[in-house]
Amino acid sequence: MIPSILLDIAVLKPRVEMDRRELGQSLSLNVEMIEQGRPNRKGTLISPSYITIHNTSNDHPGADAAAHSRFVRDKGYYLWNGEKLYVSWHYTVDDRRVIKHLPVNEHAIHAGPANRQSIAIEICMHAENDQAAANARATRLVAALMHDLGIPAGNVVPHKHWTGKNCPVLLLSGFEAFRDEAEDIRSSIETSPLETLGEDNLVTREEKDNFGVPDQIAESAEPDDHDSHEKIAESLSEFLENERS
Ligand SMILES: [Zn+2]
Repeated sequence: MIPSILLDIAVLKPRVEMDRRELGQSLSLNVEMIEQGRPNRKGTLISPSYITIHNTSNDHPGADAAAHSRFVRDKGYYLWNGEKLYVSWHYTVDDRRVIKHLPVNEHAIHAGPANRQSIAIEICMHAENDQAAANARATRLVAALMHDLGIPAGNVVPHKHWTGKNCPVLLLSGFEAFRDEAEDIRSSIETSPLETLGEDNLVTREEKDNFGVPDQIAESAEPDDHDSHEKIAESLSEFLENERS
């Protein structure tokens, strides 16, 4: 039996309202796009109806969002049996910032069948990362994308959903809580998407107005072998060592 006073408090608790502009500002968004024509930016237009969450599986010092941004723009592949397997994703998040690498209406190479229908987010997990802060930033990013693009909470999925990979390695056991938190933030946004869309470049109007059509989407089917985070982590370490030397 719950005392009635507690029920009263629950009913009277003021609803927290979130302004979309403030939410955008809280992300500390940098736009650092992969150059057009690079092998990991084919330019195929997609119509994203899912958001796919990854962890980098890279706990090395320095493997932060800025390092992943340089890697995905200047290298963007790992070697597998002598072959370059290209990788890309839309946003990298750490405890300090969000970096955008691709328009949301362009195909990225991150999780096989997800590539042609999903926005990809990589959450860092390097040694110096404040993981709780990075995860909280990622929930705000997901909430803003859900709001701007009308993506339902049920379509926010772990990498594992698509290919069975053990990813996002730090969030799989608590994935529903992560998704619920994003949905709580999204549902508290009072601003209409039409009012603020494109102001902070998280999703531009041009991207929203130029979603792919199904026949283009079908052409972009990818083999399901470009999503080894361990291999990406190795390739990134080599990349950082070369930068230093
Ligand atoms: Zn993943």
